[in-house]
Amino acid sequence: MRVLVTGAAGFIGSHVCARLSEDHDVVGIDDLSTGDRSNLDGIDIEFVEGSILDPDALATAASGADSVVHLAAIPSVPRSMANPLASHDAIVTGTLRVLEVARALDDPLVVMASSSSVYGANPELPKHERMTPMPMSPYAGAKLAAEQYCTTWSRCFGLRTLPFRFFNVYGSRQTPGHAYAAVVPAFVDAALAGRPIPVHGDGTQSRDFTYVGTVVDVIADALRRDVATDGPVNLAFGTRSTLLDVIELLETQLGRELEREHSTSRVGDVPHSQADHTLLDELFPTIVPTSLDDGLRDTVAWMTSYLAGDHAPSS
Ligand code: NAD
Repeated sequence: MRVLVTGAAGFIGSHVCARLSEDHDVVGIDDLSTGDRSNLDGIDIEFVEGSILDPDALATAASGADSVVHLAAIPSVPRSMANPLASHDAIVTGTLRVLEVARALDDPLVVMASSSSVYGANPELPKHERMTPMPMSPYAGAKLAAEQYCTTWSRCFGLRTLPFRFFNVYGSRQTPGHAYAAVVPAFVDAALAGRPIPVHGDGTQSRDFTYVGTVVDVIADALRRDVATDGPVNLAFGTRSTLLDVIELLETQLGRELEREHSTSRVGDVPHSQADHTLLDELFPTIVPTSLDDGLRDTVAWMTSYLAGDHAPSS
């Protein structure tokens, strides 16, 4: 099978490419806006440096593909608040272009990365796929539109799609050190560097942290068994950990107390997030998720070598 991966040089994309390249021919496309070419070092894929918004680059990358894993996006709530139109272009228009290119292929499966942020202000927990989405940021609104396009293209054109709502994915190759860094790399980086842990709010906000290896297991299984759906599927396992829980696990693993530095909550952040995973379990009954403790241990090991200057170890 030949698989097109968009956003291939990103955090999740590089893990998807590494796994899929074991069994398939993989072609990746990435404009390297947040991704890094070095994430793909040692991974056997064809790579097209370009934007999914560039029809020629996308057509070149998609040529002959049997399936598509669509991950390319500007993946940040704060960035979308600062520049909503750029988020719309990358996420909504970008997805539309990917769907249109896929429609010209021979009955492909299109797996797409949506986000738990679509649930936004809806306070119900756990979050199940049939509840009313209430996006609280342009990023979340764009992801909702993009997953709706997937489902619409299935109904209108018979394109087989599988939009996953990722929750907080973490693991190796997720880099710290910029204003929009996700919480786990920001915490692990600070902990290893001996700086106070930067906590927005009081730290009691909760997340359904999902290890990147588990996300890749699900995507690989979806391609292997050709799983398509008529709507979005939560990709998380119903664990609910607070930011303070993460800090405590890190304290146990590192064997020392970690200082915390609290600041104001970020606009657009949701207070709590936890997946109902009934549908995921029905569709992917054999997947066993990596625990937060084990996933954090791997992340700490990777970050240690990353900070020592080794950019993309293949953990
Ligand atoms: P990432 O920034 O590491 O990966 C996104 C990749 O897309 C980057 O390599 C970037 O360069 C590329 N890209 C951006 N615009 C592009 C364009 N126009 N053309 C081609 N490539 C482009 O982020 P990630 O965490 O790996 O996220 C992957 C996907 O998963 C994104 O769609 C993101 O919104 C979604 N997601 C991630 C999480 C998470 O916790 N990491 C949660 C929910 C959803």
